[in-house]
Amino acid sequence: MRNPYPGLVRILDDKNLKFKCEICRLVWRPSFKRSGRLYRGSRMCPNGCTKRALEAKKIEKWIGE
Ligand SMILES: [Zn+2]
Repeated sequence: MRNPYPGLVRILDDKNLKFKCEICRLVWRPSFKRSGRLYRGSRMCPNGCTKRALEAKKIEKWIGE
């Protein structure tokens, strides 16, 4: 699996799918829908770090333009 958020989330276990937040170090397993697909946002840190970091990046970009 390709890392969806390099630098923010690390894939610890590709087979059993386990993610680690690079910001708060939380390890979590994403939840799957019955169709076998991942829930939207389940690749992001449950504490909200990934989302916050992405939003901060967007703002940085916007300021830089
Ligand atoms: Zn986190």
